[in-house]
Amino acid sequence: MRHVAIVGSGPAGYYTAEAALKQWGDDVRVDIFDCLPVPFGLIRSGVAPDHQSIKGVSRRYEATALTENVRFVGNVLIGRDVSIPELRELYDVVILATGAPNDRKLGLPGEDLPNVFGSASFVGWYNGHPEFAGLDPALSHDTAVIVGNGNVALDVARILAKSQNELHGSDIVAHALTTLNVSRVRRIVILGRRGPHQIAMTPKELGELAHLERACPRVDPADLPDEAEDAALDPGLRKSVGHLRAFSRTGDADCPSDQVTIEFDFFAAPKRIIGTERVEDVEVERTRLENGKAVGTGETYRVPAGIVIACIGYQTSKIPDVPFDAAGGRFANEDGWIAPGLYCVGWARRGPTGTIGTNRPDGYAIIEKVARDIGEGAGKAGRPGFDALAEQRGINYVKFTDWQKIDEAEVANARKGAPREKFVSVERMIEAAGKR
Ligand SMILES: Cc1cc2nc3c(=O)[nH]c(=O)nc-3n(C[C@H](O)[C@H](O)[C@H](O)COP(=O)(O)OP(=O)(O)OC[C@H]3O[C@@H](n4cnc5c(N)ncnc54)[C@H](O)[C@@H]3O)c2cc1C
Repeated sequence: MRHVAIVGSGPAGYYTAEAALKQWGDDVRVDIFDCLPVPFGLIRSGVAPDHQSIKGVSRRYEATALTENVRFVGNVLIGRDVSIPELRELYDVVILATGAPNDRKLGLPGEDLPNVFGSASFVGWYNGHPEFAGLDPALSHDTAVIVGNGNVALDVARILAKSQNELHGSDIVAHALTTLNVSRVRRIVILGRRGPHQIAMTPKELGELAHLERACPRVDPADLPDEAEDAALDPGLRKSVGHLRAFSRTGDADCPSDQVTIEFDFFAAPKRIIGTERVEDVEVERTRLENGKAVGTGETYRVPAGIVIACIGYQTSKIPDVPFDAAGGRFANEDGWIAPGLYCVGWARRGPTGTIGTNRPDGYAIIEKVARDIGEGAGKAGRPGFDALAEQRGINYVKFTDWQKIDEAEVANARKGAPREKFVSVERMIEAAGKR
């Protein structure tokens, strides 16, 4: 029998569990730990609330979760409630699938001013992550600045631009819906240090902006390279750039004053965030490309803004006793191997890149490695050993069946047309699970 501990119940965690079941069938017991009482990581707290079909992937994880040989151990923070050496003592292998939940900093003066956020906190706020539910962003100024040229920047812009009507069938949490309902934001400026050919935005997400009820996406035609140069791009990027070209043909007359304009400001590097009580302006430096890199030109300008959201990437949270690669913002690892019996997978292994699906081959590859390393298992204590430790320490963990109760209560609490109303505090989740 092999005893496997997976830390983190996001896509990487569940694909790894699925691979372990395929590899060993009834000869494995997998415990999936999560610090939250609810599973699925960024599927619940990252993926945009108006992209419900993408969130549907969690049904696949449910099939894995409901097998006898896999169990969910929620509301246990590894590194605090139970240490890594303790887990390694109990299980043949510990696989860290803890994602990359911390915002990368802009590293600019003024970024600690009120109403300057990273996307982990802002997205966590509208998606009801308990850590960020109390964020309370002010949307009282007409301009929002978003920094970054990836899909997360587009998610944030879209949520800010959508009407209440368009958010109707989403699972955006009530506190965010209320704030967005009185939002004064009418201009969203997306800053990118480089140009249209360097974006990391996918065509589907960009194309969506053209179909919003009241949004007017705009690109300065002068920022676009010669159209002939698009031929050399990968097909996906070429399609994305095609959307930007279409946005560049939008004129003033196409954007009535009741619309929300979404302005793509390319070759624009934020330099300083200015304000007293809270952010008032972003100082931006014009850049140009040199060998694919953005280089400052010395020309600066200010964008008046009431809120700034930096969507520039994430870092893994450190865990005591696990070596960390500070430059990469993830655990120090060689293709997922950290130390004997200790591995990482998903964003915790490779950093915040790729889609949900990218985590599947990652999970299968890790289990292949683990299979070579742990053989038939070393007779470790596994589940019963963990349960004894939990009892001794008073850890009343949340099981998958408890999560199903939380799920049922969230669905029952949904406002009309919405799939669920999420609980946004751990206490309410635990209560709904009937654990208190
Ligand atoms: C805003 C946003 C939107 C996205 N939208 C899409 C999309 O539309 N389509 C798409 O394909 N991809 C999308 N992605 C990417 C996708 O979400 C990731 O590829 C995927 O979630 C990474 O999986 P993971 O399991 O490595 O990490 P995560 O999903 O982050 O899961 C990590 C889990 O570990 C838990 N954890 C962390 N530390 C500990 C600890 N010490 N102890 C116990 N538990 C712990 C966390 O609670 C979490 O549940 C999006 C990402 C973001 C940030």
